[in-house]
Amino acid sequence: MIDIKSMTIPELETYLAEIKEPKFRAKQIFLWLQKGVTSFSEMTNLSKSLRETLQKKCYIADAVIQKCYCSKLDSTKKYLFRLHDGELIESVLMDYHYGRTICISTQVGCRMGCTFCATGQSGFSRNLTPSEMLSQIQTAERDGQKRISNVVLMGMGEPLDNYENVLRFLELISNPDGINIGMRHISLSTCGIVDKIYDLAEKKYQLTLSISLHAPNDAIRSQTMPINQRWHIEDLLKACRYYSETTGRRISYEYAMISGLNDSDDCARELGERLRGTLCHVNLIPVNTVSGTSYRKSMIDRQQVFIKILAKAGITATVRRTLGADINASCGQLRRRYQSEVEL
Ligand code: SAH
Ligand code: SF4
Repeated sequence: MIDIKSMTIPELETYLAEIKEPKFRAKQIFLWLQKGVTSFSEMTNLSKSLRETLQKKCYIADAVIQKCYCSKLDSTKKYLFRLHDGELIESVLMDYHYGRTICISTQVGCRMGCTFCATGQSGFSRNLTPSEMLSQIQTAERDGQKRISNVVLMGMGEPLDNYENVLRFLELISNPDGINIGMRHISLSTCGIVDKIYDLAEKKYQLTLSISLHAPNDAIRSQTMPINQRWHIEDLLKACRYYSETTGRRISYEYAMISGLNDSDDCARELGERLRGTLCHVNLIPVNTVSGTSYRKSMIDRQQVFIKILAKAGITATVRRTLGADINASCGQLRRRYQSEVEL
């Protein structure tokens, strides 16, 4: 079966030529798919015979709400979506002053094995298709009845380990005839797949690249992030400098503060020295405790100490506001919790 929602307009045109249908149908079909229809029968401006052919040859990917957790503290909603093969993924919908933001998954699970991350600890199942990435946004928008203006690729999975599908998703979502969320409203977070950072730089997209750094040196980073054994911090930072120079965009570094591991004054100074002079911003995040790991959040004052030390090196840092703190099972935790509840 053909995954029709992952197709661009030129690809739809080629496909329609193959099945001897007129070219102008491509845009009609594209508009319906981007609107989020879930059946071909809803495509009312197509001929009946074309709808029947599409029904036989293609499928429309969807993300069905399996469970939705609403925060009692703010308007944050966390979705557990079921895909056509029964796989479960997570998305989080948040309201910020600049608009509604969705954090979507790019893979079912993750191969990268970061030791503090629930997704990393659950292993890898498969890549998501571009259509499954779009579907998370469409279903959440339909459910929330309000336009989503920003997208962050920070849910389950490593986006640059699913590079081709993520690129296609970016092209589809920023298409003015489709959902039309511009690159400046998109952030992509990576643990640091260095060769793909160079490839992405060449695209010159205006998206925000977030790097999950979480440590000031290789000794600490290699303890929690296996990817660091493949590419050391200096290789990663070199790629980031290239990315900024090529795209003109500031890099955002994510730093989850873990008590006794990466939160000392020395760590802050070392981080400051490494990043000094680069176009960047540091996001300090209190680490979320994941069952089965011994990592604990840093004392709250450590964040302020980091901000001060980094400021001396000329680097701006902020503490990420935690939305939906009461449902804040971070990336991968919700699926794990749900699966263990179901298994009970
Ligand atoms: N794979 C990508 C994107 C998904 S993870 C990446 O690693 O960047 C999204 C963010 O959540 C990353 O910055 C990741 O490091 C962070 N994260 C994962 N587990 C966490 C935890 N237990 N506490 C705080 N942040 C966590
Ligand atoms: Fe994968 Fe990101 Fe989790 Fe690491 S932090 S295991 S890269 S999802």
